[in-house]
Amino acid sequence: MTLEHHDVLIVGAGLAGIGAACHLQRYAPGQTYAIVEARGASGGTWDLFRFPGVRSDSDMFTLGYGFRPWTSPKSMAGGGEILSYLRETAAAHGVDRHITYHRRVVGAEWSSADAQWTVTVEQAETGERSQRTCGFLYLCCGYYRQAGRRHRQRGHGGHAGPRPRAGGGPRDDAAAVTVVLPVASWN
Ligand SMILES: Cc1cc2nc3c(=O)[nH]c(=O)nc-3n(C[C@H](O)[C@H](O)[C@H](O)COP(=O)(O)OP(=O)(O)OC[C@H]3O[C@@H](n4cnc5c(N)ncnc54)[C@H](O)[C@@H]3O)c2cc1C
Repeated sequence: MTLEHHDVLIVGAGLAGIGAACHLQRYAPGQTYAIVEARGASGGTWDLFRFPGVRSDSDMFTLGYGFRPWTSPKSMAGGGEILSYLRETAAAHGVDRHITYHRRVVGAEWSSADAQWTVTVEQAETGERSQRTCGFLYLCCGYYRQAGRRHRQRGHGGHAGPRPRAGGGPRDDAAAVTVVLPVASWN
């Protein structure tokens, strides 16, 4: 069976993956590439984290891409603005057409004999697995687990309301903020 092959397979469609694809197109235009993204949307961090007030910690003139400088006078940008910037960059460079969503990379094996990676990709909804090959595997998957993480707060067991998540909620929804106050106990 012949597997789908790319010269470069990029894992993750966040800031790093979109940037990697743009650079690849510019500096190695003959190379074929694809991006596989575990979630259903691009943007990574800036799509996931939607708590009110989410913004960059550093100035966007530094965090933005050198090949597409940040032009807004607002240097500390909100999460929504950064997300738009990333998606506009992906669209402007045609990178968005290379992204396949709901595909999580779950394994990769290198073969020196064939000089290529065989990458196992899982379909998020069905769990169905398939394989593809590439010459260069570019891991742009960020540094934290994106799904299923809750804050661990000591003593919040008695809290009856919704428990907050840092990511995945509606953007700028004031209702997303839940304050859990510790109450002293003298038992
Ligand atoms: C509130 C906040 C503010 C921040 N501010 C700054 C700042 O000012 N400056 C700065 O330098 N950094 C900042 N960061 C860090 C920020 O995460 C990075 O700068 C940057 O956005 C990370 O981009 P990334 O593409 O490397 O990773 P991510 O944004 O995490 O994207 C990784 C992508 O890879 C996908 N993925 C992961 N594993 C797999 C897999 N196995 N298969 C397929 N896809 C996968 C994920 O779904 C995700 O879409 C901030 C982070 C937060 C949360």
